[in-house]
Amino acid sequence: MVRRVAVVGAGVSGLAAIKCCLEEGLEPTCFEQSEDIGGLWCYTDQVEEGRASIYRTVFTNSCKEMMCYPDFPFPDDHPNYMHNTRLQHYICKYAKHFNLLQHIQFKTLVTKVKKCPDFSVTGQWEVVTRKDGVEEAAVFDAVMICSGHHVYPNLPIADFPGIQKFKGHYFHSREYKEPEKFRGKKVLVIGLGNSGSDIAVELSTVASQVYLSSRSGSWVMSRVWDNGYPWDMLVITRFRTWLGNILPRALSDWLYVRSMNRSFKHENFGLMPLDKTSRKEPVFNDDLPSRIACGVVVIKPNVKEFKETSILFQDGTVQDDVDVIVFATGYCYSYPFMEDHSIIKSRDNEVTLYKGILPPQLEKPTMAVIGLVQSLGPIIPTADLQCRWVVKVFQGSMTNKKKGGKPTNFKQSLFFLSSLPQRYGSSTTLQTDYITYMDDLASDLGAKPNMLKLLLTDPRLALKVIFGPCTPYQYRLEGPGKWNGARKAILTQWDRTLW
Ligand code: FAD
Repeated sequence: MVRRVAVVGAGVSGLAAIKCCLEEGLEPTCFEQSEDIGGLWCYTDQVEEGRASIYRTVFTNSCKEMMCYPDFPFPDDHPNYMHNTRLQHYICKYAKHFNLLQHIQFKTLVTKVKKCPDFSVTGQWEVVTRKDGVEEAAVFDAVMICSGHHVYPNLPIADFPGIQKFKGHYFHSREYKEPEKFRGKKVLVIGLGNSGSDIAVELSTVASQVYLSSRSGSWVMSRVWDNGYPWDMLVITRFRTWLGNILPRALSDWLYVRSMNRSFKHENFGLMPLDKTSRKEPVFNDDLPSRIACGVVVIKPNVKEFKETSILFQDGTVQDDVDVIVFATGYCYSYPFMEDHSIIKSRDNEVTLYKGILPPQLEKPTMAVIGLVQSLGPIIPTADLQCRWVVKVFQGSMTNKKKGGKPTNFKQSLFFLSSLPQRYGSSTTLQTDYITYMDDLASDLGAKPNMLKLLLTDPRLALKVIFGPCTPYQYRLEGPGKWNGARKAILTQWDRTLW
């Protein structure tokens, strides 16, 4: 029976893990290598080894009603999209409110996680930590890996012939903090993801010219959507998900492309995704189209070759006198503390997890990877639901409803997510549809809102749940971890948004 749980990392996922363990009477011990909580959102001027690093001006691209912990709404006076310092402030309030800090050992690095010799019987893990140079080992019944996935840069230098000849400066976007030192320079940003487009837009205010190179284009969305409402409050709804699932694929693709092109035609801006019907995560940037229209950001195709000071692109154009290259080429997953790396990552670097959480090959389901799944939805509620689900798995009380309440056989179940090319385009991430994924976990847990019951007993709430934004509170309306404030939070979500 699982009792003691080790949680690796005290970012937003680690905090959810601690709280969900406490809710179910488990004993969590969280190890955090830095001296504070918040992980990625705890901004530092210096890049720290083994920890995610953000630039000074990062704002959230999920709005406050969609990205809060499901039983802890943001205060009314917070803006819909927040600067990282505001989000960090909220995270600290959450940890304090639920007394989570006492379960965290700060400045403690997890250096090794390995199976105990009798793992096949007990499912236990030995966790080795280091604090102030002193190593310590302890045995835990289960481990929740919440160490983040924006830490180890993906710098595909081998794909860029001639980079060694380049005389200017180049670095990964992880090193980028602020624009001032690029004043007057000619900069090339490689990669049209969220970081690449944010950095290109920010640099364009001081650099003499910014080029943004993209291999395959991307949909660019604005945080401010129809009639000025937050994009995610309008797009992430049960009704839209249901429509997307029942409409013929061709019609749903056509509607998708049309909605993405609503505010500007991507083709005219050189941004059109190669696979335009792929539901891979769009880029959120309110300013990029106007920066392109003003000519301060110029979109380029993939780089063919680097020379000493110039760059040749795939379309045959050449840019001379480039001073700086920023590789906004994303991140690789790495779990350096895992003694047996193949538990999470296969030999060819693919990750396959049952429900995006459990490594399937373990004899006992006592390890969980939290927050790795990527969808159009926010990570905080996703991590919260994953933690609630996995705690039930640890306790052995997760049953398969379709099989008459028998314990779930994780090895035979079909719902695996893997970093293989799939509907969401060729991807290195575990991509999924937000509501479908959340509903699946919630129905296992008995926390999925029952629409028919709601329509009959509380039609006002039912209509909000079906047609309104799928806010995190919906997953705390019933089931284990039910929050009594959930109904009111749903009925007042638009009031807080307009505030
Ligand atoms: P992290 O925040 O990375 O925390 C991991 C923690 O684990 C860190 O504190 C680290 O120090 C600790 N740790 C790691 N290894 C060890 C070890 N061996 N021993 C001890 N401690 C360890 N998501 C959204 O939902 N909405 C957004 O608007 C959004 N914006 C983003 C913007 C940027 C620029 C980036 C990069 C990501 C954004 N994300 C967003 C996704 C983001 O990853 C999540 O919001 C979230 O911060 C991930 O939290 P986490 O707890 O899983 O990981």
